[in-house]
Amino acid sequence: MSTTPITCAMPEAYTLVEESELRQRAWTARRALGDRAVILGHHYQKDEVMEFADITGDSYLLAQRGAAATAAELIVFLGVYFMAESADVLAAPHQRVVLPDLGAGCHLAECADIFTVRDAWAQLTQALPGKRIIPLTYMNSGADLKAFVGEHGGAVCTSGNAQRAFRWAFSEGDAVFFFPDEHLGRNTGVQIGLEADAGRVWNPRLAELGGIAPNELAETPLILWKGFCNVHTAFTTAQVADARAQDPATIVIVHPECPRDVVAAADEDGSTEFIIRRCQELPEGSRIVIGTDWNLVNRLAHRHPDKHIFCLNEHICPCVTMNRITLPKLTWCLESLAAGEIVNTVKVEDEMARWARVALDRMLALA
Ligand code: SF4
Repeated sequence: MSTTPITCAMPEAYTLVEESELRQRAWTARRALGDRAVILGHHYQKDEVMEFADITGDSYLLAQRGAAATAAELIVFLGVYFMAESADVLAAPHQRVVLPDLGAGCHLAECADIFTVRDAWAQLTQALPGKRIIPLTYMNSGADLKAFVGEHGGAVCTSGNAQRAFRWAFSEGDAVFFFPDEHLGRNTGVQIGLEADAGRVWNPRLAELGGIAPNELAETPLILWKGFCNVHTAFTTAQVADARAQDPATIVIVHPECPRDVVAAADEDGSTEFIIRRCQELPEGSRIVIGTDWNLVNRLAHRHPDKHIFCLNEHICPCVTMNRITLPKLTWCLESLAAGEIVNTVKVEDEMARWARVALDRMLALA
């Protein structure tokens, strides 16, 4: 996490209240807040809190929509820490961003930190004199990493616009340094025409050039940070084969944070918004097997009873950090806000926010 959380722990008493009473109290507090608050819900959140979301979407859309809701001085984010930071970066000065559990991080975002990225950058620029390297960070990263790419001529990308961002970066420089998701980086490289093995993986645990041989580093167009999402890397090609064995007409759709071989084996791949859209578009009776977080797949299955929608790994655990946002924590949060106590705010330092915004604006300019 790149900013200092202002902590305020939920009193234990909330864990002892019956669910029906919690829902009632949460709705009472929500109504009392009225237009002063907007609640943003990421697609991977649990149903027990999603019913309170005014707007649902992926992380960037939510950050934008929160900022656009200017009547709301409070943005309650049902998601993880880097999302709340992005919402704060884009928020108007009068808006405060609140995360019901400040411990809701993201495994992938935490695979890269500013200190090891700065060290890697220093090594890269020294090892590749005269080469222009463009740093790109995935949306799933801390505000400090977004600020880093903003300061160094790079941009942010989402899983929905990664191809566009990569093409832009290659038009600007000789090589792309992408963090923190190795798999999204490799999959995007293939989608824009690179060989699957064209990239080299920078392992921040290895002191010398991230473990890349100097001659390979000089030749590669793509340097990929060794980071991964523990949910999306739990999908395998064996599961894809199994889904097809059960019904050859199955359409397998996976998220591009999945490993390359899984994406290659699937019928389609794309962002959460893409997956949601495909579930709407595919005809009645379709059997759709999806490789992404279980909460979203389960919701899609209920939303489209005319189709047969399953998770690629039926035994997968939902994202544990997303699931830290629970009904008791949301109830505590809303009741505190309604009583005038602003708890669990996420605030990005001004200078960091300024540069992070530069990187986000560069992404927007690519549209
Ligand atoms: S699903 Fe993966 S990328 Fe998304 S919040 Fe969880 S750990 Fe992070």
